[in-house]
Parts: sequence; C-alpha cells; structure tokens
Amino acid sequence: CGVFGVIGVTDAANFTALGLHALQHRGQEAGGIVAYHPDHGFNSARRFGYVRDNFTNAAVMDTLPGQLAIGHVRYSTAGSKGATAIRDVQPFFGEFAMGGAAIAHNGNLTNAAALRRELIERGSIFQSSSDSECIIHLMARSIQKNIPERMKDALRRVEGAFSVVAMTRSKLIGVRDPLGVRPLVLGKVGDGWALASETCALDIIGAEFVREINPGEMVVIDEKGLESFHPFERKTSRFCIFEHVYFSRPDSILGGRSVYETRRQIGVELAREAPVEADLVCPVPDSGTPAAIGFSQESGIPYAMGIIRNQYMGRTFIEPTESIRNMGVRLKLNVNRALIKGKRVILVDDSVVRGTTSRKIKDMILEAGAAEVHFRIASPPTAWPCFYGVDTPERSKLLAANMSEDEMRDWIGVDSLRFISLDGLYRAAGEAEGRNDKQPQYCDACFSGQYPVAPSDKIEQGFEM
Ligand code: 5GP
Ligand code: SF4
Ligand code: MG
Repeated sequence: CGVFGVIGVTDAANFTALGLHALQHRGQEAGGIVAYHPDHGFNSARRFGYVRDNFTNAAVMDTLPGQLAIGHVRYSTAGSKGATAIRDVQPFFGEFAMGGAAIAHNGNLTNAAALRRELIERGSIFQSSSDSECIIHLMARSIQKNIPERMKDALRRVEGAFSVVAMTRSKLIGVRDPLGVRPLVLGKVGDGWALASETCALDIIGAEFVREINPGEMVVIDEKGLESFHPFERKTSRFCIFEHVYFSRPDSILGGRSVYETRRQIGVELAREAPVEADLVCPVPDSGTPAAIGFSQESGIPYAMGIIRNQYMGRTFIEPTESIRNMGVRLKLNVNRALIKGKRVILVDDSVVRGTTSRKIKDMILEAGAAEVHFRIASPPTAWPCFYGVDTPERSKLLAANMSEDEMRDWIGVDSLRFISLDGLYRAAGEAEGRNDKQPQYCDACFSGQYPVAPSDKIEQGFEM
C-alpha cells in the first residue's frame, strides 16, 4: 500500500490526491482521503479504482476542504484475502473523547488475528476485515489523554510491519515500526509538511525531501513545528530489500539509495554471476527494465525492447470471463517479432513467484522464432511468503519452494535460468561486503526464510518456519 499526508497547505486533499497518484504502483485496488477543516470537521472519500479516476473531479474534491489531509492507496495482502469491501478502504477514522483521528497504514500486522479476537471479546465492534483497524480499537482503549500518546500505546501492542500516517484536528503524525520494514519519508512544502511512502510522491507536489522517518520513530507535526519521539525499544533496521527490487518506483530514493541505481546494479551483478552468450538483452517490462540495462552495460550485449507493454492495460478489469483470463499476459505484453526472430535472447525479470508469467513469456518468445531463451532474475528464488505487506501466495504455490533451480528451468522450458545470489543482491543494494549473516542489513525473508518478526498469527494457523 501507499500512504501520504500533508499539513499547512491550502487544498491539502488535492496535494494528497497528487501524492497518492504518484504512489499508485503501491496499490491499485482502491484509495481514500480524509481531510479536516475547522468549520467543516472531518470529511472523507473512499473509492475503488485509480486515484486519477476518483480524486480529480470537483464533486469529490470539493467535499474535502482543509489544510490537513491524509490518504491511502490499497493493495490487499496476506492479512485480508478475498474481494475488498469499501469498508476495508483506508484511511480508518475513530472518534475519541478528545476528538477524531484518522489513520492510514502500509505494511501488515503479524499479530492482528490474536489482537482482533481479544478486542472483540472486550467489546470492540470491528467495521472491516483489515488488520489495520486494530490500531483504532487499541487507541480507543488507551487511557492516555491525547491522541499521539494513545497511538504510542496502540502501536506498542502490534507486531509486524507498519508505516503509519495519521491525523487529528491539528496534527499530522508519522510512525515507522522498530525495524523500518516499510518506507516513510518527510518533506517540506512551502510552510507545510508532507509525509509519504516514497520520495516520488514528494517530487510530484514540489516538496523538498527533508529526511526519512527513522525506524521506530514517531513524528508529530503541528503549527508549532515537528516533534520526534522514540516510543519503541530500539532495534537494528531491517528495511524490505524487495522494495529496492520491485515494489518502489525507480525514481524514488530509499535508505539514501536510488532505487533505479540499485536495480541497474543488480543487472551488473547478474551479468558477472551468470554470464551467457547471446544476441540481445530484453527486459520484461516494466519491472525488469533497469536490471536489463545494467546487464547489457556489464556484458556488452545490446539492450533491446523485445517485449512491448500495453500502457493502457489496467489490472484485472476484464478478468471475469474464462476465455479472456486464458489470454493471460498477452493482454499486457506482446513480443516484438521483427526483433526477436532467429536471436538468442536474454530476458530479465524482477522475480519468479508462481512461474506463470515466465512460462507464458517463454511461449511467446519461442513462437516469435527466438533461437534461444535465457532467463535472468533480479532477485533470489522466492521460496517463502511475505507477512509484512507484500502479497505472495502460500509456500505450496511458490515455484522455488517446490523445485530446484534446474527443475524450474525445465518447468519454465528455457535454455537457462539464473537468479541473483543473496550476496549479489546486497552488494547491488550498497553493502560492499554482501549480506551480514549474523545481523542482516535488510529483511529478505521471502528469499531466506529468516523472518525478523515471528509471524505469530500464521504460526498459530500451522505455518512452519
Ligand atoms: P509469477 O507469474 O511468477 O507468479 O509472478 C512474477 C511476476 O509478478 C513478475 O513479473 C513480477 O514483476 C510480478 N510481481 C512480483 N511481485 C509482485 C507483487 O507483489 N505483486 C504483483 N502484483 N506482482 C508482482
Ligand atoms: Fe520485503 Fe520479502 Fe521481507 Fe516481505 S519478506 S518485507 S517482501 S523482503
Ligand atoms: Mg513484472
């Protein structure tokens, strides 16, 4: 998911819509904005679909006046399977004795099921199926006298990954979990401030990047300025390395690193670790593009657009009928036949999850007359599910959890298949010595199976680490 918040600007909701539009890649299912105006109180709008289709028209935006707003774009993850109901669309809002508060959460809480059970037993009435709603109910039960203190109380009880943006009538609040698994950045816009999942959302509103919110930090911003707190026990940061591989936008700067540069460097590392003679290096667009550029630069094999992406393909809007579903990746990707025919092609993609994308792309490339197909993957084999806010299927459906690299090569049906090593990935992400196995610098659980926070709900449901 993507979160955004802004304080101290006129038309805060419009800034929020722009910020969410820049974060759309983090969630396309739905979006929501809450704004506060002293004369009009809290107002909210929650919609399915893209930001640009919902939060650009005056009929919606005119209902969201004020200089303070937060927003969320949603992508449903392990915690909340099934169709999203509008009541699952954030920000969530709670009315407390000391006034209202709205929160938007990116990440996934690993003890939400246990907390929900406990809260329901004690009388909480849940409105949604979202793990994030626990935070509101925990805040309601806190005995603290103000909302930031209640948030601290609530967040000390939750486990897992959370980057939270929240607002009261006068304050914008930002918090990152103690490991800083999901990103959250701070910007200055005129006399106001902005919080966003990624720096690309600051760029779009012309805000100046100030710094990241630190792992375990809470910032509270109002008219008087910014105050920083550290409500949690200090831990060593474990930022999600998959944000660098796939999830974030390449024009964002995260952890002081350009996401594009990390991806390009992954391609360089891959070309060193797994060279192969070929005529062309082609990305699987768009997620494989920077790594393919790096692979080409390092190997000297020409880069070419062997697969063209239809830029107008939304997500799953025409999926319902079986015959259309079977067309699969063809709706989104097509082979550049004239280029591919007779060539030995290296295809670079970011990850192999179920393997269905790779297999279909291989079919298309061979049909177009390629002489050889070599897959190079910009992440290590995805052998474990993510419980911290990225949607991966259960282990039984992960190709790499069930097959060796050679078996995967044969199952996909290509001449060769190689993944970047975990150390190579860390080097590309700026760790010259590679991964520190005693204290890994990032979360890499989906590749290593080493979960920095025990997924306690899942363990209770039978998940074996
Ligand atoms: P597969 O077909 O192997 O299941 O999925 C791999 C493809 O899914 C890759 O092309 C990759 O770009 C994309 N992908 C990887 N992670 C995610 C994710 O978390 N969400 C979505 N929507 N796509 C992903
Ligand atoms: Fe990121 Fe993978 Fe860790 Fe999930 S398990 S937070 S995707 S590195
Ligand atoms: Mg892809």
